[in-house]
Amino acid sequence: MRAVARIHRIDLPRIVLIGEDVIDSLGDICGELGFRSALLVSGYKTFEIAGKRALENLRASGMEVWRAHAGNSTLDCVSRVKEEIRRRGCDVVVGVGGGRVIDVAKMSSARAERPFISVPTTASHDGIASSVASLKGLDRPYSIQAQAPIAVIADSGIIRASPYRFTASGCGDVLSKSVSVRDWRLAHSVKGEYYGAYAASLALMSANHVMDWAEEIRARTEEGIRTLLEALVSCGVAMSIAGSSRPCSGSEHLFSHALDMIAPRPALHGEQCGVGTIMMAHLHGLDWEETRETLRLLGAPTTAAELGIGEEYIVEALVRAREIRPERYTILNEVNLSRSEARELAEFCGVI
Ligand SMILES: [Zn+2]
Repeated sequence: MRAVARIHRIDLPRIVLIGEDVIDSLGDICGELGFRSALLVSGYKTFEIAGKRALENLRASGMEVWRAHAGNSTLDCVSRVKEEIRRRGCDVVVGVGGGRVIDVAKMSSARAERPFISVPTTASHDGIASSVASLKGLDRPYSIQAQAPIAVIADSGIIRASPYRFTASGCGDVLSKSVSVRDWRLAHSVKGEYYGAYAASLALMSANHVMDWAEEIRARTEEGIRTLLEALVSCGVAMSIAGSSRPCSGSEHLFSHALDMIAPRPALHGEQCGVGTIMMAHLHGLDWEETRETLRLLGAPTTAAELGIGEEYIVEALVRAREIRPERYTILNEVNLSRSEARELAEFCGVI
């Protein structure tokens, strides 16, 4: 069995602000952290929704602010923003936007060795507070290490006003921890992989909270949205404590990554992870029907049709998922699904 490393480094956000209108505290937070200049990274749409407000707030607090556009989460975009950070010599990078913008700001700031503040405009996945980023153009479809944000400013008013589909997707990503934690424990007992009980418990607790608060989240009450945001932040913290995405990404994420590679039009990350969780929970002998019910209650997809993905891609993704990341041992390595078994599983769980 592999020994636990003697030194365990954990990088966490220093400030997490969740609540209505917290975006207007951005300038104060930067002042508190000693920053005087910032590069604000945003998309065209997210700039209109929240970026402009953030920019005005930062300027009103006396900061020098430049803007950079993040259109997509490609490596080219990351290099361009990284050069902009270097050229301006700014103290901090502020990412205002959805998952892609946050990933570009996170990765480019890490590469330019500058701190990063995460200002999400949607709650679509757990990358808002994590140290990992998912980018296009890498030789793999899954997340890689970047850096944890120094602060997370999650404005529940802005997130509540975002299309509900994103929120339901975030719930799918959080609910998937019931499976990913099981996969991690399995890898620990079979492969002797490092397992951190605290990080695992934290991830699992987030999933349980979202399950308990499903109706409130669906109704988009302030408390419901806050609970989801706290769960997403906790998942990011769980990954930081574990030192990898292990507590938050197991077989259900491999299934989603496989879909991203093969489906002509993949659905949202959290939507795919949610459907994967139903089937992987069944393989683990967990209460998969409860997961499915909760996803339904949340208005998240539970079938191939609701994902807008053809049945054949679901089956193919189930078969190929274990090849996506061979070093990540999961239940898929135990069952080695054949094509007919994969079809049977998807049919049994009502996915196809
Ligand atoms: Zn995820």
